Amino acid sequence: LFIALEGGDGAGKSTQAGLLCRALEEGGRTVVRTREPGGTPIGEKLRSLVLEHGHGDIDARTEALIFAASRAAHVQQVIAPALRRGDVVVCDRYIDSSVAYQGAGRNLGPRAVLDVNLWATDGLLPDLTVLLDVDPAEGRSRRTAGAAVEDRLESEPDDFHASIRDAFLDLAREEPERYLVLSAAGTPEDLHVAILGALPRVSA
Ligand code: C5P
Repeated sequence: LFIALEGGDGAGKSTQAGLLCRALEEGGRTVVRTREPGGTPIGEKLRSLVLEHGHGDIDARTEALIFAASRAAHVQQVIAPALRRGDVVVCDRYIDSSVAYQGAGRNLGPRAVLDVNLWATDGLLPDLTVLLDVDPAEGRSRRTAGAAVEDRLESEPDDFHASIRDAFLDLAREEPERYLVLSAAGTPEDLHVAILGALPRVSA
C-alpha cells in the first residue's frame, strides 16, 4: 500500500504523515515513512542542492530534472523494495509536487513534468494520494508561525502558491478514485480521522 501526502507549503503534511504512520503501526502494519525531495542519501543531497541555490543558479528545467532524479533513486532504493516486502509506504510529497511546483509554478507545463516523472519512476503511482488543500495566505501564515526562516521556494509570492494549489486540484479532479481531497483548514485530528476513513477503499 502506497500513500502519498500532497499539498502546498504549510498544509500540515508532516503532521498528518506522523499521525497516519502511528495509526498504521498500531494496527500491526510495517510502515516506511519517507519524504521528497529526499528519502535517500543521494536524494537528501539533491534536496539541499535545490533548496540552497537561488533561481539564478538553477533554471526551471534543471530543477525539474533534479527532483525527478531524486525521485528515481527514491523509488528504486526505498519505495519499490518496501512495497515488494508488503510494507505500507507513507510519502510526504511525490510526483504531484513536481507537476504543481515545476509544471505550474515554474511554467514548464504539467503534462511535460508528469511525463518525465512517469519515466523516472517507471510509472509507479500511489494507491491513494491525500491532497491537503491549503489557501496560499493561510499556508504562508502557518509557515511563518512554524519556522524561523522560509526556504527559497516557500518565500515565493502568493500567486506562485495559488497556481500550485490549482495544479494539485486539477490532478485530483482527473482521477477522483485515487485521491482524497481535504481542506487543510480542518483540525489535525479531523483530518487524521478523514484520512483513516479513506483507507478501506484502497487497502481492500
Ligand atoms: O515539503 P518540504 O518543505 O519538504 O519541501 C521542500 C521545498 O521544496 C518546499 O518549499 C517545496 O515547495 C519545494 N518543492 C518543489 N518542487 C517539488 C517538491 C518540493 O519546489 N517537486
